[in-house]
Amino acid sequence: MMAPAIVILGAGALATARRIQALYVERDAGANCQVHALQGRVDADVPFTELGAHLCELYARGTPIVALCAAGIVIRCVAPLLSNKGVEPPVLAVAEDGSAVVPLLGGLAGVNVMAREIAAALAVPPAITTSGELRFGTCVLNPPDGYALADIGQGKRFVSDLLAGESTRIEGAAPWLDDAQLPRAASARLAIRVTPRAWNGREDELVIHPRSVVAAVIGAGAGAGAGAGAGAGAEIVACVRDALDAHGLAPLSLAALLASSDCMADPALAEAAASFNVPLRFAQPRPEDGEPPANLLHAALRIPYEILPNDKDTGVTLALAPLAIDPATIGRARGRLTVIGLGPGSADLMVPAARRALDEASDILGYDTYVKMAGPLRTGQRVHGTDNREEMQRARHAFELASEGRSVVMVSSGDPGVFAMAAAVLEALEASQDPAWAAVELSIVPGVSAALATAAQAGAPLGHDFCMLSLSDNLKPWTIIEKRLRHAAEADLVMAFYNPISRARPWQLDKALDIVRAYRADTTQVVLGHDIGRPGGTLRTLTLGELRSSDVDMRTMVIVGSSTTRKFTSGIDGAEWVYTPRWYE
Ligand code: SAH
Repeated sequence: MMAPAIVILGAGALATARRIQALYVERDAGANCQVHALQGRVDADVPFTELGAHLCELYARGTPIVALCAAGIVIRCVAPLLSNKGVEPPVLAVAEDGSAVVPLLGGLAGVNVMAREIAAALAVPPAITTSGELRFGTCVLNPPDGYALADIGQGKRFVSDLLAGESTRIEGAAPWLDDAQLPRAASARLAIRVTPRAWNGREDELVIHPRSVVAAVIGAGAGAGAGAGAGAGAEIVACVRDALDAHGLAPLSLAALLASSDCMADPALAEAAASFNVPLRFAQPRPEDGEPPANLLHAALRIPYEILPNDKDTGVTLALAPLAIDPATIGRARGRLTVIGLGPGSADLMVPAARRALDEASDILGYDTYVKMAGPLRTGQRVHGTDNREEMQRARHAFELASEGRSVVMVSSGDPGVFAMAAAVLEALEASQDPAWAAVELSIVPGVSAALATAAQAGAPLGHDFCMLSLSDNLKPWTIIEKRLRHAAEADLVMAFYNPISRARPWQLDKALDIVRAYRADTTQVVLGHDIGRPGGTLRTLTLGELRSSDVDMRTMVIVGSSTTRKFTSGIDGAEWVYTPRWYE
């Protein structure tokens, strides 16, 4: 389950919030459990400004919510989103002092399990109100991972029959019900049936499917990425459905789709797996594994199973296991490498796709400082921090890990494509002949670059044409930098300087400013952003005439305005705004 967001409105709730957070951080599944606090009232991990909007955003993303405030407030905030019961994450209200734990929403997403866990950690009884759960000690309609309820409507009728006093039989293996206080009788009319077979519509049966079927499919092969036409995914889905139908098996019994490692880049396979909402796994059959696609199953499955005969030559072969199969044990996954930008520093300037990639990663690589900024990480996530200079080596390491099937995230600050790791990763890939690297699912997630974060704080100095320049001559000759500075200054572009100065490059900034001063007036507006979006960050506006290189260090963004960039003071707080108008005289 996704880690909950613990939401507080004041300092009085912080101690309880931290106790609940500790519960989830200590657990393996407790990825990235953070305390969200109302800005201006209390400081914690993630600030928010408006409770209603924040809770709605969390809810819409499916994040479990533990709100330390009145139950009524929480209900009012999420009320507009309640119409669709299917996608309801767990929502709980907890008293600020930890004296009450009230599960509100998300019965089918395990809210009562969370309520019990949190209440146990706070040493109070949870306020469970679900009748079936109170009576039977478990939510019959919420089977564990690896099992799926056939039909929720049927399930609800079934539980109300039990509550009305009926007994049930259990057919098939349902180990999670062993401790439940269900009224059982061998001759009962009602039955809980754990089976991969499709539900036949009988109302006196609660059907739960173990995810015990693997479908081996033939993909379009290596290089399918470019060639596979639209609809190929739907075709695979139809063939798998036909094969399941032919054996009376329910689609919800699927544990995974399995294909040849040669087809890792086939988008139709990924589309088909997504459509069944199951993982896509890969295997490399050995000669002794026989003919495709059954040979994939022999190569990939490490548990007892039976191959089901297929009548038609649809390219799909099914394997059926006696129990639910953990998809992580089937063959291997396609490796993934995601290059992300953290933004300038604070969590709320990181794009959600980057946060998601971090949450899902098995391995995180990057310069130590940035990896720390990306936290808190989940126990079990492997961190490979390195010194900032070893960029190519780090890029190659990322591909090596990803080509073993791991899910790797490479972390940059700001945007990964702006003087950062994305280009190094692509350089390593282009230079490589290794087909395993080419099979890695590579993606790049943008971030808020330092120039943009600094500009936003100052106003809109990049409101007209601008350029971004790195003043570092580590990877390019200084003569090129001088030439670009002259041209940019002459063209009256606003300039954003990255890497303006460092201990190893002490004189370059003064030289650069001399060049700019030859073209721009001393009154030109300059913005200095230091540690923007990080603790202790500062913003300064001054003129080109006033600017000294001693005002700047390697954590500073220098924005030099154009001839039209202006500054004015406004507002009751006397705020200073710098902007470059959209027009030219
Ligand atoms: N990929 C990064 C840039 C890396 S180059 C991005 O898109 O922002 C490193 C330079 O970026 C630093 O020398 C500094 O000039 C600038 N920088 C990075 N983070 C910054 C921050 N939080 N505040 C101000 N400048 C920053």
